[in-house]
Amino acid sequence: GEEMAAEAKEERILVSVRLRPLNGREAGDSSDWECISPTTIMFRSTVPERAMFPTAYTYDRVFGPSCSTRQVYEEGAKEVALSVVSGINSSIFAYGQTSSGKTYTMTGITEYSMLDIYDYIDKHPEREFILKFSAIEIYNEAVRDLLSHDSTPLRLLDDPEKGTTVERLTEETLRDYNHLRDLLTTIESSTRQYLGRGNSSTLVACVNFVDLAGSERASQTASAGMRLKEGSHINRSLLTLGKVVRQLSKGRNGHIPYRDSKLTRILQSSLGGNARTAIICTMSPAHTHIEQSRNTLLFATCAK
Ligand code: ADP
Ligand code: MG
Repeated sequence: GEEMAAEAKEERILVSVRLRPLNGREAGDSSDWECISPTTIMFRSTVPERAMFPTAYTYDRVFGPSCSTRQVYEEGAKEVALSVVSGINSSIFAYGQTSSGKTYTMTGITEYSMLDIYDYIDKHPEREFILKFSAIEIYNEAVRDLLSHDSTPLRLLDDPEKGTTVERLTEETLRDYNHLRDLLTTIESSTRQYLGRGNSSTLVACVNFVDLAGSERASQTASAGMRLKEGSHINRSLLTLGKVVRQLSKGRNGHIPYRDSKLTRILQSSLGGNARTAIICTMSPAHTHIEQSRNTLLFATCAK
C-alpha cells in the first residue's frame, strides 16, 4: 500500500564505513584514522612526514574501533534487511580489502538480520511466512552452490518473470532460526536469503547478504602469484558491481551494466528499482594499508 510506495521512493544507497581495531599483526603500526563524529572519519597524522594533509570523509554512518557489530547492524543495515518483510528486495554488502573485517561484519549482520526477521514473524501471527535459504559462491565468474556437495558450476537462467535465476540451486525451507544457524555454520561465503509469504497473493522478496572478494583485487590486476584469468574474472564481478553502484547512486538514468557480471546479473532484482541497498565499507586502521583504505573510502564516496 502507501507505506510500501513511500519506502520504494527511498532509493538512496545506505553507505557506512567501519574502522576495525589494530590487530596483533599490526601491533607495531600506528593509526592515522579517527572517527570524529558518527558520520565523519578523518585522516590526521601525528607523524611529522604524514601530517601534511588532514582529510575528512563523511558518510551516512561511520563506526570506530570500539563499535560493536550489533551497532553496525542497527544503524547501518537493519532497516534495509527488514524491508524484505514488506516485500522489498534488498542487498547488504561488505566491501573492503582482505583482512579489513568483511566476513566478521557480514557474519554478525546476517545473524542479527535473521533474528529480527524471526522476531517480526513471531509478532505477526496473522501473516504466513515461508523462508527459504540459498547460499552461493562466485569465484572466477563460476557460480557454486554452497549447500550442495556437487561443486559443478551452475548456469544462470533468464526467466521472463523472475529475472535471472541460478539453475538447480538448492533452496532450503527454514524450519526456525536454529535451522538457519546450522546452515550458516556449513558455509563461509556469500549468502542469499529468500523470504516469501505463502497465500493467494503471494509476496516474494529476498534479502541478499554479500561478502565480496577483497577490494585490492579490483586495483591489482595481475599481481604476483595471481593468475591473469583469476584476476580478471574476480575483477569482473567486483568491478561491475562498482560500476552499477556508481550509476545507481547518480540516479537511474542511462544504461546500468547489470549484465556484465554474474554477481550483478543475480542481484539485478535486488539492486536499483524499488530495492534497498546497504554497503558497509570495512577498513584497517594500520598505516601499511593506507593506499587500500583510501581506495575503500573513494568507493564509499562514489556509492553515495
Ligand atoms: P576479511 O573478510 O575482510 O578478509 P575478516 O573479517 O576475516 O576480514 O577479518 C580479519 C581478522 O580481523 C579476523 O581475525 C577478524 O576476527 C578480525 N576482525 C575484523 N574486524 C574486527 C573488529 N571490528 N573487531 C575485532 N576483530 C575484527
Ligand atoms: Mg573474508
